[in-house]
Amino acid sequence: MSAERYLARMMRVSAGLAARGIDAAVVGPSPDLVYLSGYDPMPTERATLLIVRAEGDPFMIVPELERPLAVSSPVGSAFDLLGWVDGRDPYREAAKVLEGAALIVVGDRLWSSHLLGLQIALPMAVITSASDVIGAVRSVKDPEELDSLRLAGAAADRAFEEVCGLRFEGRTERDVAADLGRLLLDHGHARVDFTIVASGPNGASPHHAPTDRTIGANEPVVLDFGGTLDAYCSDTTRTVVVGEPSPAFQEVYEVVRRAQTAACEVVRPGAMAQEIDRVARAIINDAGHADRFIHRTGHGIGLEVHEPPYIMEGNETRLRAGMTFSVEPGVYLPGAYGVRIEDIVAVTSDGVERFNRSDRALRVVA
Ligand code: ZN
Ligand code: ZN
Ligand code: ZN
Repeated sequence: MSAERYLARMMRVSAGLAARGIDAAVVGPSPDLVYLSGYDPMPTERATLLIVRAEGDPFMIVPELERPLAVSSPVGSAFDLLGWVDGRDPYREAAKVLEGAALIVVGDRLWSSHLLGLQIALPMAVITSASDVIGAVRSVKDPEELDSLRLAGAAADRAFEEVCGLRFEGRTERDVAADLGRLLLDHGHARVDFTIVASGPNGASPHHAPTDRTIGANEPVVLDFGGTLDAYCSDTTRTVVVGEPSPAFQEVYEVVRRAQTAACEVVRPGAMAQEIDRVARAIINDAGHADRFIHRTGHGIGLEVHEPPYIMEGNETRLRAGMTFSVEPGVYLPGAYGVRIEDIVAVTSDGVERFNRSDRALRVVA
């Protein structure tokens, strides 16, 4: 990616800062830094600080020993780098650049040691979270980002298709999870981030970690898995059943499927994030499972698997073309099973595009 595109992203953050009356944003090694500069050093106790100002050019403070690394990054020669050597105080260097700044925001993943250093060096400044301003920029994806997310979704779908052809009954959750991870890599993921395999009663725990539990006959199994392809994330969930499903389970499954379909259908530019949640929740509430849908309907996805916009009550953010997020209603019945169906979707100029397209009808596995 060219330096110009990164500089354009930093300029969008500058404009967001100016519009909110904020003087500067400070970002450490994190997905925010990767998004804004393409630079991805390891976060450590030595401060690397990208400073984006409402007025004035961006600026980066780096440990002197990492200057060559920073210079070789996409924007390394496009802006001023200030190196600091061990024994010096990098926060005082930052304070010089930020002189007179009254309101500063910092990235959510800036280590607290660096935030505390900045607070000591800038005792008069108010420091709050940068997530509103940076999240608003990052949440609207450009065409290249959409392509990466589309590829990641298609690769996850192929992994699901293949795992359905493998045996579930008599094997452990951990074994099936290992298969899922291998399949994600086979289909182009560079890294596996999570493989939830939650059989029978374990399915009632949405973030269950696979165990040595043996998957039994006629049990529902929640499969929620994702990884990173082209630096962008995949995340999809399907609930399958081993052999013959019980009528009660089939009923719950259809409720979740209807909720997921209806919620996807109302995704369009201008809708509020909370409206998507309300549509899914109303269907599950009407079916009598109001207190069994125990999480928000979805989360944004991009360089991180969870990022803005969050699809939940209280979020009045208006959806915009280019936003990408999960739609993943679920019903969780403690002691029995869980059902969740999750697709990544993108807001288009007039509606929605699904990045996961594997069948949402109940899948029977062996
Ligand atoms: Zn989750
Ligand atoms: Zn998921
Ligand atoms: Zn998710």
